[in-house]
Amino acid sequence: MITVVGGGPVGSFSAYNLTKKGQKVRIFEEHKKIGVPVQCTGIVTKQIDDIVKLKKNVILNKVTKAKIIAPNNKSVTLAVKDYVIDRTLFDEQLSDMAVDAGAKLFTNTRFLDYTKRVKVKQGTKTKYFSTDWLVGADGPNSKVRLLITTKRPKVLVGKQAIIKGSFEKNTFQVYLDVPNFFGWVVPIDSTTARVGLATTTNVAKHFENFIKGKGKIQELQAGTIPIFNPLLKTQKNNILIVGDAAGQIKATTGGGIIPGLKASKIAAKSIIKKSDYNLSCKAKLGVELTTHLMIRKTLNKFSAKDYNELITLTNQQKIRNVFAQASRDNFSLTALKLMFQEPKYLKYLTKLF
Ligand SMILES: Cc1cc2nc3c(=O)[nH]c(=O)nc-3n(C[C@H](O)[C@H](O)[C@H](O)COP(=O)(O)OP(=O)(O)OC[C@H]3O[C@@H](n4cnc5c(N)ncnc54)[C@H](O)[C@@H]3O)c2cc1C
Repeated sequence: MITVVGGGPVGSFSAYNLTKKGQKVRIFEEHKKIGVPVQCTGIVTKQIDDIVKLKKNVILNKVTKAKIIAPNNKSVTLAVKDYVIDRTLFDEQLSDMAVDAGAKLFTNTRFLDYTKRVKVKQGTKTKYFSTDWLVGADGPNSKVRLLITTKRPKVLVGKQAIIKGSFEKNTFQVYLDVPNFFGWVVPIDSTTARVGLATTTNVAKHFENFIKGKGKIQELQAGTIPIFNPLLKTQKNNILIVGDAAGQIKATTGGGIIPGLKASKIAAKSIIKKSDYNLSCKAKLGVELTTHLMIRKTLNKFSAKDYNELITLTNQQKIRNVFAQASRDNFSLTALKLMFQEPKYLKYLTKLF
């Protein structure tokens, strides 16, 4: 028996991959309903098509341009192929896939601890379950992670609003004048957008400034984004962590859906083959997520002047051509191509050291 803690996309997809291979799986989700509350902007690259076929109603919008805006208001527009998804419907789709494949889902069931058996609180009752494996897909504040390591990941705090206003339906915007991260405007259609930012301190103050003049607020959401740590242990004996619980997030963008789904597949394979998940993660995800981390660490040292210059450098046809062929979910090779096309990018690496 395999116990998955967390009925988010990564927990459900782990359960799906395991049940598909004939394993007995149960999922514990603390909320009563899958996919609620939403704490996500829901933008994913088209690379998700290689992992899961999204149901039509999950895709709310397709964006083809990313407009990146420097502190001096100059901008570069890059070609992208991204989906804006409905996170509740997406989480439900993956949960249904897991249940249809044979996984047993227990909602309203909070994981508390694991020594010899798994201890949960189901409604008001405390219950115990035997298990052979424990998979922690319980998000950024993972309790399962504490069974592997007491080290807490560094985090960003994200805040966003659903805004009514006027937006370019096929373009999302990224504002670089936010400390240690960025602000975003992601359209769902021409009158509705998800507008927010993430940063390390004074989130409320930065958010208030950022949101001014963008439109009428319909709803507010907030959440934590863990920063990838290549040294974090992701397995101890029969306990594994995946997705946000393991900080498997692109540190450049805060995108965790695709890396988390990829990690779900690695976790399922490691359990079935009894191979080292920690090592497999490093081999299959490590280079990509470390590249994003290095870029983020470099960007965090940028002044407004550096960002202005970066946007000017990036606004060259040869660079935009490289981006047009690239995916944020396969960026390590693109980073090399960019430096080859424009060696001036290399000077930013000195900031890293
Ligand atoms: C503001 C914001 C915007 C974001 N935007 C994007 C984006 O545009 N694109 C993108 O790719 N990523 C984005 N992310 C990141 C993305 O939301 C996560 O990477 C993704 O949700 C990870 O999925 P997960 O299943 O690992 O964790 P989660 O989605 O957090 O799911 C964890 C599940 O575990 C449950 N749980 C937690 N503790 C327990 C417990 N003790 N017992 C039982 N159940 C438990 C929770 O209720 C939850 O359902 C954003 C994050 C934030 C905060």
